[in-house]
Amino acid sequence: MDVSAKGVTSSDVSTKDRAVSGFGGLSDEKRWEKVRTRLRDEVGEAAFKSWLAPVGIKDVRDGRLRLNAPSRMVRDWVQTHYADRIRALWGAEMPGVHKVEVAIAAPRAKVPPIPDSAPAVVGRNIEAREAAREAGIPAPVLASDAERDSLGAPLDARYTFDNFVVGKPNEFAHAAARRVAESKTPAFNPLFLYGGVGLGKTHLMHAIAWEIRERDPSRSVLYLSAEKFMYRFVRALRHQDIMSFKEQFRSVDVLMIDDVQFISGKDSTQEEFFHTFNALVDLGRQIVVSADKSPSDLEGLEERLRSRLGCGLVADIHATSFELRLGILQSKAEHMGVEVPPKVIEFLAHKITSNVRELEGALRRVAAHSQLVGRPITLENTQEVLHDILRASDRRITIEDIQKRVAEHFNIRLSDMSSARRARAVARPRQVAMYLAKQLTSRSLPEIGRKFGGRDHTTVIHAVRKVEELTSRDAGFAEDVELLRRMLEG
Ligand code: ADP
Ligand code: MG
Repeated sequence: MDVSAKGVTSSDVSTKDRAVSGFGGLSDEKRWEKVRTRLRDEVGEAAFKSWLAPVGIKDVRDGRLRLNAPSRMVRDWVQTHYADRIRALWGAEMPGVHKVEVAIAAPRAKVPPIPDSAPAVVGRNIEAREAAREAGIPAPVLASDAERDSLGAPLDARYTFDNFVVGKPNEFAHAAARRVAESKTPAFNPLFLYGGVGLGKTHLMHAIAWEIRERDPSRSVLYLSAEKFMYRFVRALRHQDIMSFKEQFRSVDVLMIDDVQFISGKDSTQEEFFHTFNALVDLGRQIVVSADKSPSDLEGLEERLRSRLGCGLVADIHATSFELRLGILQSKAEHMGVEVPPKVIEFLAHKITSNVRELEGALRRVAAHSQLVGRPITLENTQEVLHDILRASDRRITIEDIQKRVAEHFNIRLSDMSSARRARAVARPRQVAMYLAKQLTSRSLPEIGRKFGGRDHTTVIHAVRKVEELTSRDAGFAEDVELLRRMLEG
């Protein structure tokens, strides 16, 4: 495209100067937005708001990605905790960056520096905003200042018990959470919820908080991430405000600390947390904690804190099952008010197995796409819209995968794939599996035959022909086979 013909104004040039690197079309700012969005999914909303939202991109120079942070604390934190991850994510967008540098975007001459001890929160925000404006950080990201300065973190209105779908993998954690929410005195102290990322820990904690508030608005519930706890603590230290910090935390009826793994290795924060914890337990207040691992598996934790954390009820949330994923998708689709064909729901539940957050994201993408282009959701466009995610989860298809999938789909036993039974109810699915094995793997006919209970290669040829014939005259059958193929293929 001829840029000069478009009449680029001088202001265009000056912003682009800073933000567009030589090629690729996407500006560095856009790229940074993408990376940040990924990080937000990875670290969660609370950590994102505290640490990453205020960070802007300065430029990319000599293989160094240079970022601006509004304060020393944010700078140090981002540099030590997120630099590696940022570099990896940036590298996926644009190779060539081998270092991430975070600097403090100090206010320049115009704005006199305000000493650290300045009490006026408003004044400090103005200063930060001014500095950010000069450093080229978009203003809205600082809107979270007030939120960050408040004691707890806001609760997500969607994270209620009503919206939580219960299945085998999470029923124990759910029951424990409910019990805590319904008890006036501590049911178990603490309730320790743990599980992998995106499996519903934060959702359950918010649900507890909502429920308690609804049952008894006079009880004070404080929910925050361990990172925020640390942020508050360090700030209190800096402002020599430790007494009121202690008081604030010790005056609550229910304290919930999310993602407690973040204080691993932070000795003074752990120590403070330990004391807060003990004080609250002594006062008969309820504590709820979440982490990505069980207390005994958390590294970098002081022994006494570890044993304290494990002495209440420890409830884990397991990886999702197919059934749970189905349930969650159905519920989310209903909530979003979109019509999603059962085949698509099934397809998504089969393909996106990592965690609920990804599952939700995929569904949202499919729904948004269908609304934008004004077409109903189908298996085809679902595949198209999600092809990048599906590719990523792709792996080589084995005959065992095929047998398992087909057996599940037709509701027969896996052993029937190699049994001698000839009843149509099992023979037909077996033929479908042989057909798919021929289509989707590079195995020879005799090899396929062997995997199906030592059958002859002519049996496989017969199966392939039979399935081809059936698909050409039975649309329902053809659709089944197609669905299976797509599920296996991605
Ligand atoms: P974690 O804190 O364990 O990383 P989250 O609680 O943030 O995970 O959950 C990620 C997303 O998945 C949230 O949008 C949440 O509402 C949703 N989610 C997780 N588990 C369930 C469930 N059982 N039912 C409904 N939504 C769920
Ligand atoms: Mg969480």
